[in-house]
Amino acid sequence: MITLPPVDRSTLVATRRDIHQHPELGFEETRTAALAADRLHSLGYQVKKGVGRTGVVALRNGRAGGGARCVLLRADMDALPIEEANAVPYRSQHPGKMHACGHDGHVAIGLEVARRLAGLDLPGSVKFAFQPAEEASNGAQAMIVDGVLEAPHVSAAFGIHLWNELPVGTIAVTPGPFMASVDQFEITIHGRGGHAAAPHQAIDSVLVAAHVVTALQSLISRRRDPLEEAVVSVTEVHAGRAFNVIPARADLRGTVRTFGGRFYEQAPQLIEETAQGTAAAFGARAEVQYRRLSAPLINDRQLSDLVRDVAVDLVGTTNVRDSVRTMGGEDMAYFLEQVPGCFAFVGSAASSGSAPHHSPTFDIDEESLVIGAELLTRTAVRYLS
Ligand SMILES: [Zn+2]
Ligand SMILES: [Zn+2]
Repeated sequence: MITLPPVDRSTLVATRRDIHQHPELGFEETRTAALAADRLHSLGYQVKKGVGRTGVVALRNGRAGGGARCVLLRADMDALPIEEANAVPYRSQHPGKMHACGHDGHVAIGLEVARRLAGLDLPGSVKFAFQPAEEASNGAQAMIVDGVLEAPHVSAAFGIHLWNELPVGTIAVTPGPFMASVDQFEITIHGRGGHAAAPHQAIDSVLVAAHVVTALQSLISRRRDPLEEAVVSVTEVHAGRAFNVIPARADLRGTVRTFGGRFYEQAPQLIEETAQGTAAAFGARAEVQYRRLSAPLINDRQLSDLVRDVAVDLVGTTNVRDSVRTMGGEDMAYFLEQVPGCFAFVGSAASSGSAPHHSPTFDIDEESLVIGAELLTRTAVRYLS
């Protein structure tokens, strides 16, 4: 039986507030990375910096040596380009940057878990990935390319997101598809410019773009199996500079979200055909660029059960949710594509209510830090034991 040292709540909160005051955007997390690396080094971990550019990896080998299991715990470190509107003593000190997604809390939790596991005699290895650039969806891949899942090979990966859609004291553990794929498309409509009063001499890129936007929504209603979840959102429309000129070009951007499946496979081709076919009907031309930013996040069923058991011990059955899903994306998906694991949400909304993620008034109930640290520490111990 392993006895865990208690959570050091005051250090946990102080670390989170320190990082909150010094937010850094994706691949610029040098201060945060140095803070994490110093702490991990002094705890006796083998620390590697610069993994996936600004990422930090820490390793502690288990007593069994080679061949034993290795658990990976992942914390993302990046902030967002948002001006903080909270009047709190730990407000962001960097204008235009803010930890508005809770990643400051993830780093603090990761370091507290590392501290609690450091002194234990565990049968397997523990590896921490302090990951850059989650918001841009390419930090996880950068760390994987740099070998975070090898030497030693990671046998399971776990992570959490503090989650303001859920009240503090609750935990969501959903087996199977949990968070959506994130794809991005860019469509350029090439028409022919002309006088607003003589539309017959022009090919109106604005009208074509409007038809394309409408046709893209028809993919959801007519081309997708209604039992498969999917979203198409056109979020940017750019065209024209004068009220009396028909612009030659219009640009659209948007996103497709799914949990995998047929529509996920077909989406790049459907978007391209729809844009090009619609444009052709008006005598215009469409150019389409389609990029997969992050895969659907799929939780391993067995390891979800393990996390669920830990969560039930921690907050009680009635406070554990098993059917929460979101069309939001997470690049933790890339780790879980390579190795089995589970990503869970730790409720962080205050009882008085908390602002949503990515808003300038985002903040968390800091009790969620304690719950997150307990959940990940106990999950790692239970997995390795
Ligand atoms: Zn976010
Ligand atoms: Zn996030």
